[in-house]
Amino acid sequence: MVTPLELKTRVKIQWCPGCGNFGILTAVKAAISEAGLEKHNTVLVSGIGCSGKTPQYIDTYGFEGIHGRILPVATGIKLSNHKLTVIGTGGDGDGYGIGMGHFMHALRRNIDMTYIVHDNQIYGLTKGQYSPTSDKGFSTNSAPAGAIEEPVNPMVLAIAGGATFVSRGFVGELDHLKKIIIQAIKHRGFALIDILQPCVSFNYKNTYKWYKERTYKLEDLKDYNPEDKIQAYVKAHEWGDKIPIGVLYKETRSTYEDFLPQIKDIPLVEQKIDNMDITSVMREFI
Ligand code: SF4
Repeated sequence: MVTPLELKTRVKIQWCPGCGNFGILTAVKAAISEAGLEKHNTVLVSGIGCSGKTPQYIDTYGFEGIHGRILPVATGIKLSNHKLTVIGTGGDGDGYGIGMGHFMHALRRNIDMTYIVHDNQIYGLTKGQYSPTSDKGFSTNSAPAGAIEEPVNPMVLAIAGGATFVSRGFVGELDHLKKIIIQAIKHRGFALIDILQPCVSFNYKNTYKWYKERTYKLEDLKDYNPEDKIQAYVKAHEWGDKIPIGVLYKETRSTYEDFLPQIKDIPLVEQKIDNMDITSVMREFI
């Protein structure tokens, strides 16, 4: 008899050779292990896109939702059982396109979860349309004359939106990325990690080389303080010739769950419902 978890370990990875998603997978697995998470108490939630397959490749619980709906599903799981470690993992199109409304509200709620965005600046699974983070002028199959809009800046939006942990990683710096993910998992509140993840099949501009030549680590700056919001805003606006990676901003604030007395002592999922009578409530709807 093969268990569902055993089946999962036999799944063949279906990403293009050289894809940046492999680096994210390696870093997330290492971070889960080093952070000491128990697999039966950890849930990965994904949406649609190449990144959406990630929960299939990691030996924890997983939920693959529909496009742009990672955060509402992750929120539901967290509020049902806040003892779980919940990690959302999806693409820039999923999170900053169709999922943008959910993203902004998740930031201000500060639910205790980690959100990993595989930011390859393109829609890879659908073969190369420009995405919300594509650079202006970036030419793709869907826009041969170049993208017209200004790109979304997830770092600026996250800080302005009220996130309590805002960071950027790069798959070409795996150990650095792993350390950011561990910090995000341990952070109490909503933690965003936007990861620069080259799509080797469809994004010919933002390559490993392109990122390597531009990224630098915030930890190497002597006077950078990630708890200083003004400094964080300045760094969040940096893009182009220089791209900062590391923890841009963090603060300590109460989480959404802290304001729910219903789950203060016991998670929703463990509460007894066998002696509840909801007849009077249902009558109101008849
Ligand atoms: Fe990776 Fe791009 Fe291939 Fe998708 S299409 S698996 S993002 S290289």
